[in-house]
Amino acid sequence: MAEWEPVVGLEIHVQLKTRTKMFCRCANAYATEPNTQTCPVCLAFPGALPTPNETAIEWTLKLGLALGCEIAPRALFHRKHYPYPDLPKGYQISQYDEPLCVNGSFVVPGDDGDFEVGIVRAHLEEDAAKTIHVGGATGRIVGAAHSNIDFNRGGTPLVEIVTRPDIHSAEQARRFLQLLRQTIVELGISDAEMEKGQLRADANVSVREQGEAGYRTRTELKNMNSFSHIARGIDAEVRRQVATWEVGGEVVQQTLDYEVKSDTVTPRRRKEEADDYRYFPEPDLVPVEPAAEVIERLRADLPELPGTRIRVLAADVGFDHAVDLVTTGNEHKARLLVEHGLDWPTAANVAMNQLAAIDPLPENGPALVAIIEQRDAITREALTASFADSAVGPLDADAVLAHHVVADTSELEPLVDRVLADSPGQVAAFRGGKQGLLGYFVGQVMKETQGKADPKVVNELLRTKLG
Ligand SMILES: [Zn+2]
Repeated sequence: MAEWEPVVGLEIHVQLKTRTKMFCRCANAYATEPNTQTCPVCLAFPGALPTPNETAIEWTLKLGLALGCEIAPRALFHRKHYPYPDLPKGYQISQYDEPLCVNGSFVVPGDDGDFEVGIVRAHLEEDAAKTIHVGGATGRIVGAAHSNIDFNRGGTPLVEIVTRPDIHSAEQARRFLQLLRQTIVELGISDAEMEKGQLRADANVSVREQGEAGYRTRTELKNMNSFSHIARGIDAEVRRQVATWEVGGEVVQQTLDYEVKSDTVTPRRRKEEADDYRYFPEPDLVPVEPAAEVIERLRADLPELPGTRIRVLAADVGFDHAVDLVTTGNEHKARLLVEHGLDWPTAANVAMNQLAAIDPLPENGPALVAIIEQRDAITREALTASFADSAVGPLDADAVLAHHVVADTSELEPLVDRVLADSPGQVAAFRGGKQGLLGYFVGQVMKETQGKADPKVVNELLRTKLG
């Protein structure tokens, strides 16, 4: 049996969070009341002229630099024609053969070695409006009674990133996207939340036999809105293609939707795939010629990128923790704790778990570390409350540490005796074989001590007395 190698390229769309839309002054706030953020330009009234959003252009350049791209000395906007109700002009302003950023390379660190994904291009375009199909079961056009269009999204800035087919597994695709997303978030150009559609990815998938030169026919996978769906979608399509080739069949070029529930891909109707967009240069916009000093300023302002930090951090916390910390945005919390003396493994653990949904104030670093270092000596409630408090105001470590856990047998023994004496029925049932009642007794003792008793000690005492 042949060894098959998946060949995957990705096309990623990112919604920029500029204050205004791409070619007009409307607010870029499409999650507001439908059709309230519109004007003659984004509604395509005759004679309305587009003016490019300079911030969107700068942000695209910034992203291009972070992706190791060359910045074009001259870029053009083109009209990309296709008729669709959510596109009132009948064309989308996009970039075609002269995009802003080309020929990049993005290195994704791995514990088994880094892999590099070539970036064909990153260009700027406007998003279409949003069509909402009403009355169907699936929210798709099939079965819908009618469709509404919300033009708030129409004309908002969108960056499209196209990679080379350098990705060779679903896992690599997931790791690439995760790192790309974090990079975008840290550049401050988009919140890149997949579930909100701020980052959308399509995958071009083909397979070939190990060692085979060239590429076989590819398909395009759409409709995937989380990292895990993308990985599963690619896996499903690779399986389908391998099975097709192995029985002597032929993979047909087509666009597919990934259906999460059935874990299968289904073809889109061919009608939606018309490819002739009749691109031509947008006559209402002059070419974009980024000034050398602007590019140099943006390059100098680039922060240390997540990929670089993962590699450095891996030496302290191991590769997996490093990836988790950086790509979940919890890294700065671990750093805060380490800065005040906590060891890396503990800091990473607390940052990823107890502090995952909490952003402690930097000035609480010393108090947090003092509390974490003595966490076994205080009650769980006090510990949990201190984490929550660390985000809202000054944290008093001494006050928290006063909530000692009671582990002293001589203090707990009379309490245990009283609880048992108060529950003769349960004691009899326990001795009769209802071992599950142990939890009930533990709970009673915890209640008596307002949660301060050490559950381990209480358990041991109860077992001795009930045995
Ligand atoms: Zn507008």
